[in-house]
Amino acid sequence: MPGRPDMGGRLVVVSNRVALPDQTATGGLASAMRAALQERGGLWFGWSGKVARLSGEVHRLRDGMVEYATMDLSRSDHDEFYDGFANRTLWPLLHYRPDLVDYNRKHLAGYLRVNQLFADHLMSLISSGDIIWINDYHLIPLAAMLRERGVRNRIGFFLHTPLPAAGLLIALPLHNELLETLARYDLVGLHTPRDRRALEEYFLHELGATMRRDGHIRTPDGHSFRAEVFPIGIDTAEVAQSASHADEHEEIHDLKQSLEGRALIIGVDRLDYSKGLPERFLAYARLLERSPQLHRMVSFLQIAPPSRGGVPEYRQIRRELERSAGHINGMYAAPDWVPIRYVNSSFPHSVLSGYYRAARVGLVTPLRDGMNLVAKEYVASQNPEDPGVLVLSRFAGAAQELGDALLVNPADTEEVAEALERALAMPLEERLVRWRRMMDVLERQDVTAWRNAFFRRLVE
Ligand code: UDP
Repeated sequence: MPGRPDMGGRLVVVSNRVALPDQTATGGLASAMRAALQERGGLWFGWSGKVARLSGEVHRLRDGMVEYATMDLSRSDHDEFYDGFANRTLWPLLHYRPDLVDYNRKHLAGYLRVNQLFADHLMSLISSGDIIWINDYHLIPLAAMLRERGVRNRIGFFLHTPLPAAGLLIALPLHNELLETLARYDLVGLHTPRDRRALEEYFLHELGATMRRDGHIRTPDGHSFRAEVFPIGIDTAEVAQSASHADEHEEIHDLKQSLEGRALIIGVDRLDYSKGLPERFLAYARLLERSPQLHRMVSFLQIAPPSRGGVPEYRQIRRELERSAGHINGMYAAPDWVPIRYVNSSFPHSVLSGYYRAARVGLVTPLRDGMNLVAKEYVASQNPEDPGVLVLSRFAGAAQELGDALLVNPADTEEVAEALERALAMPLEERLVRWRRMMDVLERQDVTAWRNAFFRRLVE
């Protein structure tokens, strides 16, 4: 039962989705959490991904030292908590899109109800020494709800999205009731100094908190916590290794053959409005317009697996991109050349790393992104003797660490088109210098370093 914190306990990870042992862990969060749990032993708790008649049935599974507990959600809980408040209110707000925020009290009530349900179930799963690590915007108030139930364990929170400036956060009705619950964590982790500054500004100027000399933020009602920067990494060695064997995959061979020597530009993103895809397509069209010498010499492959199809804005962006890709191909295609290959399916990491390596340019231009792991995976996948060039949005968290990419404002079509031109023409010498510097960062700050740094700070 919950009680005095001691540092020897299990790790308890809580996130909206759980990667079960028989599922591939896509994305940095899933693989980092799995590795941490396997190393230390512990429990991973979250939504089962299933919609059932009633919320709350828990499924348990053990795999070696790791226990998995997942909970079903009812249709209304799923729609209000996940599709509703998490993905139509918080996601656009956190990604600087107040124009897309759909605020609705019923969705907020569903969000709080599901968080209470998480708290109720966790109470029967945790013990006093456990270290609890809660992830992401779906579960912001969970620590406060656990504290109300008497939990005194160490609890950390990591926000995987950006955090916008206070002036934007206050546009959310009842923002203080939700965001002040962050003070009930011991440690809040963010990806970049910009996100941390936003959090401090919000607490100090909107909630009247003070900054203590030891770096804790203290709220007027006496709760204090630390907010620190931990940029998430990838498993750099693993990605590099996988990319170096890519030629063994038939898919890579087929892609290379189909290029017939043309330079490949690649984009890989979940189909999400935060990823800047319409702007990216326009920038590529602008490149073709201003550089006729590149016609037939270049091919742009955009992989964009659909996500969150239950949310209308996601269906809308999908239609928009289909139109845009069709339009560009209609303008420029030749019988033996398709300028944009737009693919709506997802691929395993082993294949993606080969695609990245086959591409002369990685085009990663989100309008806002907490980190963007694709940017890091692209760099780690390159051939050390003939690396490609990363064109990266300044508004991806990854730009803080990857200053040797060609950094662009994704809304500036002209600037992105120029960067593409420059990337395609970049001499080997310059590519080698830029790549080596980025790779040094990725090797030093890989995903193991990330989770160890957060965990160490949490138990300190
Ligand atoms: N990804 C994948 N298959 C795909 C597309 C993407 O495995 O077909 C992975 C990608 O390699 C990366 C993750 O999904 O690890 C996406 O993470 P990122 O931070 O770039 O964006 P997010 O989707 O979390 O917003």
